[in-house]
Amino acid sequence: MIKTENVCKDFGELKVLKNISLTVEPGEVLCIIGPSGAGKSTYLRSLNRLEKITEGAIYIEDKLLEKREKGAKINKITSKERADILLEVGMVFQRFNLFPHKTVLENVMIAPMNVKKISKAEAEETARDLLGKVGLSDKIDAYPSKLSGGQQQRVAIARALAMKPKIMLFDEPTSALDPELVGEVLNVMKKLAEDGMTMLVVTHEMGFAREVADRVVFMYQGQVEEIGKPEQIFTNPKSERTKQFLKKVL
Ligand code: ADP
Ligand code: MG
Repeated sequence: MIKTENVCKDFGELKVLKNISLTVEPGEVLCIIGPSGAGKSTYLRSLNRLEKITEGAIYIEDKLLEKREKGAKINKITSKERADILLEVGMVFQRFNLFPHKTVLENVMIAPMNVKKISKAEAEETARDLLGKVGLSDKIDAYPSKLSGGQQQRVAIARALAMKPKIMLFDEPTSALDPELVGEVLNVMKKLAEDGMTMLVVTHEMGFAREVADRVVFMYQGQVEEIGKPEQIFTNPKSERTKQFLKKVL
């Protein structure tokens, strides 16, 4: 579903990603853990082309999205082709960024109507269905400011799903939430995983990673330090750095 080959990203002199090669299989949940500054967000953002990589290649569903050498693009792809590939990728951020002057329902309807040119009736039907799935049927006409952080993040998830992506990227979706609201968002993500969604999740929620991930990646200083099944990573990490990190967070 996703494949990256030797992805590097420099910000000027700073080498933030160093040869990241990873694959995510259809239906797989891959959790990325690691210390702050490891490059987790930059990696996720590269997959969505919110950051331009410096080196390496990114494939989405076997389609080449991007291939670069020394910053120069070496694949030919039209902006239409790129946009079509990226339609398959939804993303949820730490901050939800809902449209404040639109209702919950409108927030979920707007992108499919504007980007996919879906009829209002169809967009509304999908939005109602998704808002039901994230447990917000009773908040459809509310404005975001009237919702808790956990509710807003669930709207953000429904909004991303409304585009019917095949892959969902989550960048610390619960980090901005009060502790008592974390569970409701993780539960929605867990359900999504059980429904077979391919997911790449950057998280500090080790319980979630352990329970839901098919594989866990430990990123350290822009590299994949270790990758394995959650059971192995959490009980028997091979790398000393993984061990030290887990000691701090568990
Ligand atoms: P993480 O998500 O693992 O905490 P990030 O991917 O956000 O790490 O950041 C990795 C490194 O890249 C950090 O040192 C950060 O300061 C740097 N960085 C991130 N974005 C930029 C940017 N736009 N310009 C310069 N440096 C950046
Ligand atoms: Mg980050």
